[in-house]
Amino acid sequence: MPEARATTSPGLHGFHGGLDLDYHKAPACDRPIGEMPLVDEYVLPLHMHIGAPAIPVVAVGDHVRRGQLLARPDDFISAAIHAPTSGVIQAIEPRGLPHPGGLSAQSIVLAADGEDREAEPLDPWPDYQNKSPVEIRARLREAGIVGLGGAVFPTAVKLATANPGGVETLVLNGAECEPFISCDDRLMQEAPEPILRGAQMLLHAVGARRCLIGIEDNKPRAIEALQAVIDRLAAEEGERRLEIKVVPSIYPAGGEKQLIRTLTGIEVPRNRHVTDYQLLCLNVGTVANSWHAVVEGRALTERVVTVTGGGVAEPRNLRVRVGTPMAKVIEAAGGYTQGVDRLLMGGPMMGFALHEDEVPVVKATNCLLAMRPVDRDPTPTPQPCIRCSRCSEACPADLLPQQLYWYARAQQFERSHDYHLFDCIECGVCSAVCPSHIPLVQYFRHAKTEIWSAERERAKAEHARRRFEFHNERIERQKAEREAALAKKRAAIKAAQEKAAKKDAKEADASANANGDGSQSATKPADDGQSAASMSIEAARARAKERKARAQQGPRAEGEPDGAERPSDESTERPGGSS
Ligand code: SF4
Ligand code: SF4
Repeated sequence: MPEARATTSPGLHGFHGGLDLDYHKAPACDRPIGEMPLVDEYVLPLHMHIGAPAIPVVAVGDHVRRGQLLARPDDFISAAIHAPTSGVIQAIEPRGLPHPGGLSAQSIVLAADGEDREAEPLDPWPDYQNKSPVEIRARLREAGIVGLGGAVFPTAVKLATANPGGVETLVLNGAECEPFISCDDRLMQEAPEPILRGAQMLLHAVGARRCLIGIEDNKPRAIEALQAVIDRLAAEEGERRLEIKVVPSIYPAGGEKQLIRTLTGIEVPRNRHVTDYQLLCLNVGTVANSWHAVVEGRALTERVVTVTGGGVAEPRNLRVRVGTPMAKVIEAAGGYTQGVDRLLMGGPMMGFALHEDEVPVVKATNCLLAMRPVDRDPTPTPQPCIRCSRCSEACPADLLPQQLYWYARAQQFERSHDYHLFDCIECGVCSAVCPSHIPLVQYFRHAKTEIWSAERERAKAEHARRRFEFHNERIERQKAEREAALAKKRAAIKAAQEKAAKKDAKEADASANANGDGSQSATKPADDGQSAASMSIEAARARAKERKARAQQGPRAEGEPDGAERPSDESTERPGGSS
């Protein structure tokens, strides 16, 4: 039976390329959201958002309650992590991540006590109108709110970096264009109020004038549920600031730039952000959780996950605590069916295959898709590119995938920059239309990973170089400081010696005068660089010696030679006089 469709809104603008896909949302979307039962153990990776990993604020053995802060953001772009239930911190150690490469990362392991006791919520702000944008952003940061459409970018940062000239239009992304995913659809059907009141709150937080809600026409029940609340809020407010825009179901209508283009006609160029155009785009689930954080003081500890595909017995949407092992979520959806050979996180277009199902649900987990070989088209052997251009005609980012492929395949990653590799949204449209069955998007993901890895290596090398230079500078500085201290010490000794010599010379002169010697001061400037002090000492010594000799010899006869011996006369000696 064909899916029911709502009428698309007038005055929309299309975007380049895209695909008309077959949808498989119904099995999960036709059932209400279920509650995932508590499990014994939750694993919370410290890095489940864009930006720096969070820093644990708990230790092994600590008792925690649901909603309690477990890890704080470590940087401007980072996000807090909270306890999904009450229990004891069992470990902080590396655990497997939901990652295409099967990586592990530092995680907090929480042993649940089954009591699910709640921590004191943050201060609820039903009067958020009295709160400043800065206070609201701080609350979103404190509550660990990130983009739940899959990007997991910290929401407070997204608001903070919006156009300094202000936001004119807030766009709510309810398009959800991946063919199997329906978590946003169910959320809009069942909880339209937090989404729309959240939109009002965010209009206040960013000072925007209006809110457009983009929804694909294959979600008529969600559109109806939202419209009823919008009408009520308009009556309450006395003005209509929220408006639904029903967009055609063309994949990837939910891409941020594609949705903006469809709703407003604005083509956001490469290297520019939608915020440069006084627009801010947020996923509907993110907005609902922003409402819970600001108005109710609740941290983000759960999300709705679509569990679907031919590989699960009872496809459905479940409200799952963050950190729940995926295997338990599959169990809650009736378990696997016979012959499952693949589990994806995300949809078939943009998701990735998991290495195992013991990894935890994280804030980015919008869908678990279990597949059997019969659930997907056979993968023919890739053939050479025939330069048909179908990929570039279909690319919604207006790229040249065949060129990107050429450079990615040749490992000329730098050249792929010239063809705007990083504008590729990895939607998979090019791979889907390629008659040569080339897995283009896999090449692009690989190329990006290689470039990031090279960037990291470059950054590491640069860091090491700076450390080496800093080390050398420090050694040189210390050496110079030591030499300066030594020179200062030498100068002080020299000054002391000079002072002593002057004193001695004066005393010698005084002694000579007392003995009738009319010679002038013993000091005279040293003209050969020799110390004036030592010369004056020598002169004083010589004079003292001469005086002594004279004193011993008595008055000298005319022509008598110097140095003739005379008896000692103690009265001419002064203690220490010439030493
Ligand atoms: S669609 Fe495939 S065969 Fe055609 S140009 Fe693109 S990469 Fe080449
Ligand atoms: S995966 Fe990238 S290159 Fe391919 S169609 Fe999507 S945006 Fe274009």
